[in-house]
Amino acid sequence: MTAPDTQPKKLFIKTYGCQMNVYDSDRMADAMAGEGYVAAAGPEEADLVLLNTCHIREKASEKVFSELGRLEALRAERQAAGGADMLIGVAGCVAQAEGEEIVRRMPGVDLVVGPQSYHHLPEMVARAIDRPRDLTAREAATRAAGDGRVATEFALAEKFALLPRPNREAVRARGLTAFLTVQEGCDKFCSFCVVPYTRGAEVSRPVEDVLEEARELVAAGVMELTLLGQNVNAYHGLDGDGRPVGLGALLRRLADIPGLMRLRYTTSHPRDMDDELIAAHRDLEKLMPYLHLPVQSGSDRILKAMNRRHTRADYLRLIERVRAARPDMAISGDFIVGFPGETDADFEATLSLVREVGYASAFCFKYSPRPGTPGAGLPDQVPEDVKAGRLARLLDLTTAQMRAFGRASVGRTMDVLLEKKGRLPGQLGGRSPYLQAVHLAAPESLIGTIQKVEIVAAGNNSIEGKIVTDLEPKSGSLVESSAA
Ligand code: SAM
Ligand code: SF4
Repeated sequence: MTAPDTQPKKLFIKTYGCQMNVYDSDRMADAMAGEGYVAAAGPEEADLVLLNTCHIREKASEKVFSELGRLEALRAERQAAGGADMLIGVAGCVAQAEGEEIVRRMPGVDLVVGPQSYHHLPEMVARAIDRPRDLTAREAATRAAGDGRVATEFALAEKFALLPRPNREAVRARGLTAFLTVQEGCDKFCSFCVVPYTRGAEVSRPVEDVLEEARELVAAGVMELTLLGQNVNAYHGLDGDGRPVGLGALLRRLADIPGLMRLRYTTSHPRDMDDELIAAHRDLEKLMPYLHLPVQSGSDRILKAMNRRHTRADYLRLIERVRAARPDMAISGDFIVGFPGETDADFEATLSLVREVGYASAFCFKYSPRPGTPGAGLPDQVPEDVKAGRLARLLDLTTAQMRAFGRASVGRTMDVLLEKKGRLPGQLGGRSPYLQAVHLAAPESLIGTIQKVEIVAAGNNSIEGKIVTDLEPKSGSLVESSAA
């Protein structure tokens, strides 16, 4: 039995992995809001718990199974105490990749839903409520396909058309910034990566769909939008006349929406960074000067083995072109150390590329062999201790660069979107154009505004500023500054 009908049912979603999962979790919450589900503060009080999972590295996907064990124990405890039932579901990329294997390993799981099937969630939950759970692992696995417990088909266009849009209150509760998925899937098949298998082929949403969702978000109070896609700069959605539109042109159309103050996008592939998109960075004031452009390795030999289809020189030339269009561009990257066959010299090439580019932020990973990807079967897998040593050196370098980027901001004046209360009383938190976390003393009434802020100090993970107002005249280079 779930909670009595008079009380709203409660949903708790635990999200792992990337921003696309964050977006998807919100859309699943929107879908279940239509069935009367409200947010639970934690699994303890939930009637339905969904784990929105990540399969990108082994650690990420193994976490899911231990969490499922904890949830089953929590449910058993609650039922033993005479409490309400709890449905347990697995969503996201582990659901897609492992499907019925999840039900085989954990027969107490009530539903498994892949990223392209979220529009089926309400009917899957309704079926799960009526279905007996006390099956053996074998029965569960045999029945899984037939009893609607597992949905992992690919039908992306359908998903976006059928998922309900959030209502204004839900958007408002999520804050002043929002994600908007414009593209899903990937056709690149880097030899280390599961995404082409878990998210399927590359699909772009039509331009009008994107614009409509963006307008609704802005009407509900969103000031900053981040467009999402596994390969967002490969976006090629169709316009009203059936013509493909690239990401640069899409950004131009979004920039025309009144009230939308800031645009960002992630994640990009170096091969899809075309002239139109670079020009958008030159021309659009609303497009923030921050580019996440993963390179993975600085060694051509390894880039080839990774099937990245770009060289180190291609990447460096691209960075030069981007900086020519927008000189203050902050560059961020992803790196994998210990891909099979990576020698000390290959790793040194990665370090030298990092020094050459100068990153504002970086995400560094040890290579994790993923079943079914070509990399997993390659000879010369790098020992774990070597990977760990290289990761530590790369982290030292990229952390030093990130801090140097923060220190270089001190003394500059920049626009900061004030998003929320800070950690200390009287403090607000926001983001600089370069995605740095900024904190400063300001009244709560300024939440939801963009202010000119002079950066006065840089910490390890954030920078501190003070609002530059007419009441506090500034000298020299800051004379143009005034409250926004
Ligand atoms: N589409 C993006 C691109 O082209 O780089 C990346 C998307 S992927 C979800 C995010 C990052 O995870 C990758 O850039 C890569 O650095 C890392 N990653 C992917 N597969 C990995 C693996 N098998 N082991 C370690 N890191 C991995
Ligand atoms: Fe994975 Fe490569 Fe596709 Fe990025 S481009 S999602 S790393 S296969």
